[in-house]
Amino acid sequence: MDAAQRERYSRQILFSPIGERGQERLLASHAVIAGCGALGSFHAGALARAGVGRLTIIDRDYVEPSNLHRQFLFEEADAEAALPKAAAAARRIARINSSVAVRSAIADLTPSNVEELLGGAGIILDGTDNFETRYLINDFAVSRGIPWIYGAAVAAYGLTMPVIPAHTACLRCVYPEPPSGAQPTCETSGVLGPIVAAVASLQVADALRILCTGEVHSRITTLDMWGGIVRQVEGPARDPDCPCCAHREFPHLEERARPPVSLCGRDAVQVGGAGSIDLAALASRLEPLGPVRVNEYALRAQFSGYQVTVFADGRAIIKGTGDTGLARSLYARYIG
Ligand SMILES: [Zn+2]
Repeated sequence: MDAAQRERYSRQILFSPIGERGQERLLASHAVIAGCGALGSFHAGALARAGVGRLTIIDRDYVEPSNLHRQFLFEEADAEAALPKAAAAARRIARINSSVAVRSAIADLTPSNVEELLGGAGIILDGTDNFETRYLINDFAVSRGIPWIYGAAVAAYGLTMPVIPAHTACLRCVYPEPPSGAQPTCETSGVLGPIVAAVASLQVADALRILCTGEVHSRITTLDMWGGIVRQVEGPARDPDCPCCAHREFPHLEERARPPVSLCGRDAVQVGGAGSIDLAALASRLEPLGPVRVNEYALRAQFSGYQVTVFADGRAIIKGTGDTGLARSLYARYIG
């Protein structure tokens, strides 16, 4: 650590459980933020400020005006330009702490890219909004012995739980199967900025502690930020029969065909792409149909009452329908 770093992080170094040794560890650490929406954008900003040396930020979506009341890193200009969240976050972090090496992955985290995106992580922070991805993260993290921190927030409620493989219960010790049926989402039940900040802050505190010391207090925290209620229970014991961390079965790492996904409550469908796409060439094909905007990350076109955003990896988000069959057909007709 040089003199400038010592000064920059001095108030964190003075906190004795971190100290100079902990700060050195943070500077040498690599954290992966899986999902850069409300929770993830808080994680990214806070970890960059704390001096975590490398950040990988994964997100599949773009910034919209309705994100801005709770997604702390993003600004009006990001929504206006419909920037992918992973790219907008990387730009902002470069202004917050230019010494942090940021890798932004504009991608859907799937079994086929999980190794590439999470493989080198010292810790993984859950900023996702769905159980499918959390079970994928849990299987991967347990299989590799990487700590991760579950977090969720909707309406005024939130929950967080750290997982250190082989030491604490994993997600499947607590919830053996993903919940079935419709779950409340931010799009259907709304969400408050303070619950996001509170859950994400607990996750970041656990992440810093794990990176500095390798340890964390195992517990589940639930919060109701409107009622002002915080509840904590001791982390449950590991299930000696857990299929994941006891029997080491990792079904969520197996590649399955990914059907189009209806994005809950958003009147939009995500269609997975077959591979990288030439956005400039696609823009010239779509221009006769209606307005098209394109930048280095994504293309946005409006036609026939739909708004279609296509990312460079071939994925598209088709807004204006919740019908996955129709979305697939629009994709096949207009994109390829
Ligand atoms: Zn387990």
